[in-house]
This record gives sequence, C-alpha cells and structure tokens, in this order.
Amino acid sequence: MRAMVLERPSEVSTSPLKLQEVTLPLPRAGEVRLQVRCCGVCHTDLHIAEGDLALPKLPLIPGHQIVGIVDAVGGDVRVIKDGDRVGIPWLYSADGTCDYCRHGFENLCEQARFTGFHVDGGYAEYAVVREDFAHCIPKNFADENAAPLLCAGVIGYRSYRLSGAKADSRLGLYGFGASAHLVLQLARHEGCEAYVFTRSQAHRELAKRLGAVWVGAAEDLPPKALDSSIIFAPAGSLIPHALRALRKGGILTLAGVTMSPIPQMAYSLVYEERQIRSVANSTRQDVREFLDLAAEVPIRTEVQVFDLEQANSALQALKKSEIKAAAVLQITQV
Ligand SMILES: [Zn+2]
Ligand SMILES: [Zn+2]
Repeated sequence: MRAMVLERPSEVSTSPLKLQEVTLPLPRAGEVRLQVRCCGVCHTDLHIAEGDLALPKLPLIPGHQIVGIVDAVGGDVRVIKDGDRVGIPWLYSADGTCDYCRHGFENLCEQARFTGFHVDGGYAEYAVVREDFAHCIPKNFADENAAPLLCAGVIGYRSYRLSGAKADSRLGLYGFGASAHLVLQLARHEGCEAYVFTRSQAHRELAKRLGAVWVGAAEDLPPKALDSSIIFAPAGSLIPHALRALRKGGILTLAGVTMSPIPQMAYSLVYEERQIRSVANSTRQDVREFLDLAAEVPIRTEVQVFDLEQANSALQALKKSEIKAAAVLQITQV
C-alpha cells in the first residue's frame, strides 16, 4: 500500500514525510482493517514530524483522525463488520487494568498507545485497529467532514466539558483553529455564549459567522467577566491574559499537548478560586458522546482537502497558520 512515512523527523519545510510502498497490514484477533478514506492533519502530527515529541517508533506513519471502510476483520471480531464506516482516534488502546483505566481515566492509562505515534496511523491507504477502539461514524457526515471530529473535535469536547461550560454561561476561546471552531458550535447549541480571542481576521470572521457573541485580541478584556475559558494556542503567554478575563471561581482549561513557558505572574490572577487545568488525550466515552452530539447539533466542519502525497504541504500550511479550519488528507475516493 502507499503511505507517507516518517523516517527521520525534521522541519516540515524539508518535507520529512516520504511516499513509500509498504506492506499491507493484516488484522489480528480482535482487530479490523480499514481502507482509509480520509485522515485529518493535526498539530500533534506537526510536532511528531518535527521531532518535538520523543518518538517511540520509527519509521512511522503519522495520522490519528482516520475515517475508513472496514475491508478485513480478524478472528473474534463481534460487532464491526466488513463494509462498516468507522473512525480511529488518537487513543489506539489502553490496558483496561491500571488504576486510571479502572476509574474512568483511560485517557491517562499507564500503558496507553496512540495512533500515528506508538503504531502506524492514517497517512496511508490502510490501517488496523482493535474493534473496541474503533468508532462508528454518524451517517450525516461526509468522510472529509468526519475526520476532524476525531481529534480536534473530541479534544475540544473534553476541554469544553472540563471547563464546566453550560447553558447561559460565558465561555472564552483563545486561538481559533480546528478545535475551537467545533467547540463554538457545540457551545452555541447548548446555549452558552462564546467569546473568541484571535489575531487573525479570517478566524474572526469565521467565529462571527458561527455565532460568537464577541471577538477580540488575547490582550482585550471582554465586556463581561467569563465563567470559563479554553486556550487552544500553544502559547503560555496567553495564560495571564485569560485569567484576567475570568470571574471569581472561573476555570481555565489548557487544550494543548505542548505549550511555551508560562510567564511569572501575580498570585492575584488565580486567587479567588480560579482554576487552571490541562487536558490530556480522551477516553472512548468522550469520542462516542461527542460523535453523537456532533450529529445532533449538527456540527459543520470547514475543511481544506489535500491528497496523500501532499501531506508535507498540509503540515507546512498548518505550521504557517494558513489553514482556515481543518486540514484533511483524502486518501481513497468512493
Ligand atoms: Zn490530534
Ligand atoms: Zn490503563
């Protein structure tokens, strides 16, 4: 099969992913194989390609927002059938036995393995996954529109839930990329007011079009104090600004995998019971809840489609913030 393979991480401007012909994977017991239709391109892929994260496997096929059609099933597969359309998100497997797994935090599992990180991902024509970690994709989404739901959407959803946002509350969104534009639609659906902080004029226009009640720059104070905020941009310097805009007891959630150092700041910014918390990965329950909700809203994903061979270009565009919403590789067409 054809795949975009990372042998040695380097700056994406040097095109570290190479198109290769690799062996077709076979599903083992309990696993299914997908013919990949689409795979979303995530900021984490950029960190993987550039070697910002220590990589447990090389060579590696990146990609963890995979939508495909099951074309082979291993022994003992009970629920998923040939021809089903399923998705593979970032959480590829968890052991189910550690303290975290047993208490509903499989996202923090000691033995968690991640798609396109510990195992080959979806920048390829085929991918394999355990059937209990594959997720059915709601019918009302086209393949390319479903892909960004699987990471940008799911992480956004977990961030949103952990932020405590609810009906009639005021939620701040810092950075307006793939995740935030999905969270904004969810917030609106639940009757929560969204305040969007971004420098980009294109992002401000999209935010307004999707129903943000206010848009501004990170340094601006919104007209009313916010109940909670989520920072999507990997910039630690945003934290003091976001805290200044929060009411007493407000919650600031950090959605990024990496962040630049957090500047020294006055205790008064967190005093009065303001909280800061991060989000790491997501559980299968997050994925299922979010996909159901996304279909109910319904959440619209704005995508920019690339061919498999253009994966390097997609990562370069993502790095330069040239992607308006979410980048998706289209791998096999119907
Ligand atoms: Zn991701
Ligand atoms: Zn575990």
